[in-house]
Amino acid sequence: MRETIKRLEATRAFRLKQEIPRLTMAERTNLLEGYHPDFRTEGVCQVRIGPNKGERMQKELTDLLEASGRLDPGRVDLTRVDFDVDVLVIGGGGAGVTTALLAHENGSRVLLATKLRLGDSNTIMAEGGIAAATQANDSLNLHFLDTMGGGLFQNKRDLVRALIEDAPLIVEWLKDLGAMFDTHPNGDLVVSFAGGHCRRRVHSCKDLSGLEFMRVLRDEFYNKGIEVLEFSPAIELMLDENGRCAGAVLLNLETNELLLVRAKAVVLATGGIGRLHPNKYPTTNHYGATADGLVLAYRAGAPLLHMDAIQYHPTGAAWPEQMLGQLITEALRGNGAQLVNKDGERFINELETRDVTSSAVIREVRERKKGIKTPTGMEGVWLDVALIDIRGGAGKLDRMFAGIVHRFKEYGIDVHKEPLLVFPTQHYQNGGVEIGPDGQTSIPGLYAAGEVAGGVQGRNRLGGNSLVDIFVFGRRAGKAAAEYAKRTELPTSLNLEHVRKYQQELAEAGIRQGLRSPLLLPDYTRPEIKKHTAACGA
Ligand SMILES: Cc1cc2nc3c(=O)[nH]c(=O)nc-3n(C[C@H](O)[C@H](O)[C@H](O)COP(=O)(O)OP(=O)(O)OC[C@H]3O[C@@H](n4cnc5c(N)ncnc54)[C@H](O)[C@@H]3O)c2cc1C
Repeated sequence: MRETIKRLEATRAFRLKQEIPRLTMAERTNLLEGYHPDFRTEGVCQVRIGPNKGERMQKELTDLLEASGRLDPGRVDLTRVDFDVDVLVIGGGGAGVTTALLAHENGSRVLLATKLRLGDSNTIMAEGGIAAATQANDSLNLHFLDTMGGGLFQNKRDLVRALIEDAPLIVEWLKDLGAMFDTHPNGDLVVSFAGGHCRRRVHSCKDLSGLEFMRVLRDEFYNKGIEVLEFSPAIELMLDENGRCAGAVLLNLETNELLLVRAKAVVLATGGIGRLHPNKYPTTNHYGATADGLVLAYRAGAPLLHMDAIQYHPTGAAWPEQMLGQLITEALRGNGAQLVNKDGERFINELETRDVTSSAVIREVRERKKGIKTPTGMEGVWLDVALIDIRGGAGKLDRMFAGIVHRFKEYGIDVHKEPLLVFPTQHYQNGGVEIGPDGQTSIPGLYAAGEVAGGVQGRNRLGGNSLVDIFVFGRRAGKAAAEYAKRTELPTSLNLEHVRKYQQELAEAGIRQGLRSPLLLPDYTRPEIKKHTAACGA
């Protein structure tokens, strides 16, 4: 590894002046089809039952959609209701807390139920920042076009329009809540590039943006006195006799008790899929990202969109091994860091979209054999981070990337001097539950917001566009759910008939694979330990 660092240092002066043109549309397509994991046929399969029957989806997700539920519908006493509320929000990340705030503001009695603690989520881990066209040289049209292009023009246009138009207001809203954005000495907001954006439009709070946003959201949530149930994941939705969503069954993870929440409206905000490890990739995601919301909505009859399109972030940590798959933010490349192979050469414009950049890294390592090998056999390419201080002046890395500097220092790596070894890591689910501009799904009374929802990002999300997505659609869904609740009575009857029917469909299709879903938490027990535990009868 040391030898390749010497080569990287030797080419720095040349690389600082080197311009690498963006790829043409045909070159991008070739790269994606040749190397992107979405195009590996063994990674996807046809789902055999449910609203998307016959469509291709990620294999690991398909397994969960074709699994049995955790409940036997016949054994749940649906008359013993524990909570009656106007709006039940499921999920305690950025989308869920935003939804709860807006539903509360619009007059609803709200209960938020979440799997872990409030804030344990992908949101709190977000690094680079939030995209919005706030600058004089930018426009809503440019942000719209970039987002559509990044999504391979498969995004739903009305959702993208909502995203882009609301984005500048979201930055103001977060500022009003007290979020401390990076600013220049004159007070103007700092904005950075991210892949696929033609303007600088990513607003950051160092490389700890999600932590800062979650801090102010949680403060606001607690100040409003909104009710929350922690360690209480939803394990099934309930419907009423008219097929409207009428609440959810929660599982208390500490006592194993079931809790029944009857609600006029339900909002799913359960986040992504990373801990299913699509295509066996490591992930940047938190432990609760196990696709639960997709399973619940699908079983209740809501179609999913683009669930064969997964985002692999180009710069996951490949060394040290303890950090495998952790995110190394794109904002580093947005501020001048370069991707370099073992011969000290760049091989792609670093501001190509993530799908394209990841494919280029995979090609460099797997086909061109220009990767750098770690002592334990992992391979990756270098991210030359020291260029940020060289270009921007000493202190820029410390000022803008305190998180990265600190995390690597823990392992004795000084990012001011040494490059970071990177390889793609699973990062985001591009698709999700199909929604309209107010987060409404095909099931009356059921809404979805944030990463669990599909259609906004098309087949590939641009950097910074998820944080804005969760706030835009969290606010819209919260308001719409509260308005729906005002014109709706509490359901008089609750049922799990859809679960029974789904079970029947599974049986008729001859599917019996022994899995139960939602998964709730990933199982990392090594096979030899499982065998040992089974042998001990534990
Ligand atoms: C490391 C990292 C860095 C990122 N950086 C950026 C960035 O800089 N800019 C950007 O735009 N995007 C970024 N993203 C993506 C973005 O942060 C996420 O897509 C977004 O925050 C998702 O928000 P969410 O509220 O939809 O889901 P989450 O924030 O993941 O919240 C989901 C919540 O639902 C809960 N939950 C799950 N299942 C259940 C259940 N069955 N019942 C009840 N609760 C449940 C979870 O515990 C969690 O609290 C990053 C993602 C990661 C992982």
